[in-house]
Amino acid sequence: MTDWKEIESRVFMTTGRRMPVVVVRGEGTRVWDDAGKAYLDFFGGPAVHSLGHCHPVLVKAIEEQARTLIHVSNAVYSVPQLQLAELLVANSCFDRVYFSNSGAEANEAAIKLARKWGKERKEGAFEIICAVDAFHGRTLASVTATGTERYSAPFAPLPPGFVHVPFNDIEALQQATTPQTCAVLLEPVQGEGGVNVPNPSYFPAVREWCNAMNILLMVDEVQTGMCRTGPLFAYQDMDFEPDVMTLAKGLGSGVPIGAILAKEECSVFTPGDHGSTYGGNPLATAAAFAVTKYMLDADMPAQVERIAAYLVEKLEGLRRRLPAVTEVRGKGLLIAVGLAGDHAEKVVMDCLANGLIVNNVRPNAVRLAPPLVVSHAEVDEAVSILEGSLSRVIPSIV
Ligand SMILES: *Cc1c(COP(=O)(O)O)cnc(C)c1O
Repeated sequence: MTDWKEIESRVFMTTGRRMPVVVVRGEGTRVWDDAGKAYLDFFGGPAVHSLGHCHPVLVKAIEEQARTLIHVSNAVYSVPQLQLAELLVANSCFDRVYFSNSGAEANEAAIKLARKWGKERKEGAFEIICAVDAFHGRTLASVTATGTERYSAPFAPLPPGFVHVPFNDIEALQQATTPQTCAVLLEPVQGEGGVNVPNPSYFPAVREWCNAMNILLMVDEVQTGMCRTGPLFAYQDMDFEPDVMTLAKGLGSGVPIGAILAKEECSVFTPGDHGSTYGGNPLATAAAFAVTKYMLDADMPAQVERIAAYLVEKLEGLRRRLPAVTEVRGKGLLIAVGLAGDHAEKVVMDCLANGLIVNNVRPNAVRLAPPLVVSHAEVDEAVSILEGSLSRVIPSIV
């Protein structure tokens, strides 16, 4: 059998750590490795495989579009791009869309939009307030917005104008506001930061503050969007409307695509301001259109609510039985299991050996973000593997 790990170590730029598994095929909630072993994928991309692996509706859309038109320059009109734009606008509070190829690029566009808005509408205000433990991507500006030193320090000097405040703390955000503040950029639920759910009062208070101070409220829904937390977009059941939203991950269910959406009042881009060769290309937008349409037709928010309640109930059972589990937190199918101690990596490795892929989102927390189409039986199977791993790995603390 080909030693892919050895090949990687020779020719690949190693920028992250991988789990010791070579995945060669996927279907629904399951993937298979190069030795034919099956795994339940509760990492999901992370949070990318909204319809699971290789959903027939998505495969069909890709096949048909691949035969019709794969790419065309953004110098001409293309149909799938505009169909997707209309669908997203019709189902959100936004008026305009622009497509990118990834989450980081969508956030770059949001940062550029906020800066141009500040220049034109707020006397050159350019500062963007972000949250501690945020994640917005790995380009120079988005990694600066992310704020994690470990990710950004090697690339200093970083672009100026990013301020970080504790998440879920309205007073800190108010204190950080200056006349130079043009925007706030926040995840509705922090994903990579550990699945941190704010108080219900937080975002309405941020909205009120932004209105009072004439600041744009931009939400990064790259991870939370596309029914991950329940509604099509997470903001939709959080009692506020953002001015700008970014999407990626679940939008293409595995096909690379990102998007920025904005209300008319702050859509300040004019021709020449932004662009992307591949952004919104026919193949990617046809795929994302099929994904979005399927979610709406199948009432995915209701499905997520049902299956998430079932998964959380099962995980709460674990918490009651195992002292090693301290907390079950999250929203919809974006969930973290908090552990008593930094055992998450060991738990993840033990789960992997037993046919379940999960992720140590924090040293003391395991994240679950399964496909939204996950079944009750698959939840049962995953929780049973997780319970076995937790019992084996974490010495019981009584
Ligand atoms: C993953 C993620 C990003 C970055 O997306 P890429 O496609 O990897 O560039 C940005 N924001 C959030 C909230 C994410 O979870």
